[in-house]
Amino acid sequence: MKQFDPQIYIDGVLAGDRRMLSKTITLIESALPTHQETARRILGALLPKTGGAVRLGITGVPGVGKSTFIETFGMMLLGKGHRVAVLAVDPSSARSGGSVMADKTRMERLSADRRAFIRPSPSSGTLGGVARKTRETMLVCEAAGYDVIIVETVGVGQSETTVASMVDFFLVLLLAGAGDELQGLKKGILELADALAINKADGDNLGPARKAAKIYELALHLLQPSSPRWNPPVLTCSALETSGIDEIWKTVLTHRDVFLPSGELEEKRRQQAVAWMWSLVDEGLKGRFARHPEVKKHLPRILREVARGRLSPTAAADELLFSLDNNF
Ligand code: GDP
Repeated sequence: MKQFDPQIYIDGVLAGDRRMLSKTITLIESALPTHQETARRILGALLPKTGGAVRLGITGVPGVGKSTFIETFGMMLLGKGHRVAVLAVDPSSARSGGSVMADKTRMERLSADRRAFIRPSPSSGTLGGVARKTRETMLVCEAAGYDVIIVETVGVGQSETTVASMVDFFLVLLLAGAGDELQGLKKGILELADALAINKADGDNLGPARKAAKIYELALHLLQPSSPRWNPPVLTCSALETSGIDEIWKTVLTHRDVFLPSGELEEKRRQQAVAWMWSLVDEGLKGRFARHPEVKKHLPRILREVARGRLSPTAAADELLFSLDNNF
């Protein structure tokens, strides 16, 4: 099957061929075992060529201005000579059968530019499945020469935590509200942030945006910073009017200047890779468990008994695990 000769994909990606890059990502996203096997071989060969990009995660509620921001930010980066790939983690797209993030009209200028590469969220599977594909896509984009990778998420379920665990820098976009800044904030989001940016700081909204920034600064002071060497700053910007955008990029670079020479960034990526491996093992084990004939045979009864209170969850888990014996 010449069609799936991994070398063609490897050479294409390394040459920066966009078509081969897209085709490789399609293999990564495919559920077919032959595709997956080819994707694994391609990734294995590309791995030494990965890791060279600034990996940036961006989150914010729908309407905060993520697409507008990424477009403006991305165009600025192209202007500085960078090559930008934009990926998305949107597990809801599996359910809705298409998502806002797949909308082709988003990021019009960026998507028309040959120096940028935009790929919507893989649209099938669990958050874990979507995240695996996005991580692998990120690596392939790095091998293809993109030196800034932006991973966007709308923040469904645990998706912010997932995206934060695959990037170097996590940016949370926020809006100024009427004094209720912290109310609508998702729990734990401030802890994940390496910087906050209040978007739409333009026109009449400039004052409220600056006020909101102060409130968030106070809120951040109450938190234990994730590193003693980094206090996440609160910035304001207007994606529409391209103000404050350069400062955000400077913040990302300052963060690198702090963590790269000390080896902390490399350590963070090492830990991310190991955590990723364990989450794949967890998922794989659960999948094999669910498919195991003994488990399938006993599971409905055991579930019933636990639900009715006739069997303790501990005894039930033991019974299921022991029923696997040596065939696991
Ligand atoms: P997303 O849902 O987070 O991707 O948000 P969009 O980028 O689609 O933006 C939602 C709306 O906010 C659009 O109508 C944008 O034009 C508008 N918008 C985005 N950024 C700004 C900004 O900086 N200032 C103002 N005034 N409007 C903005």
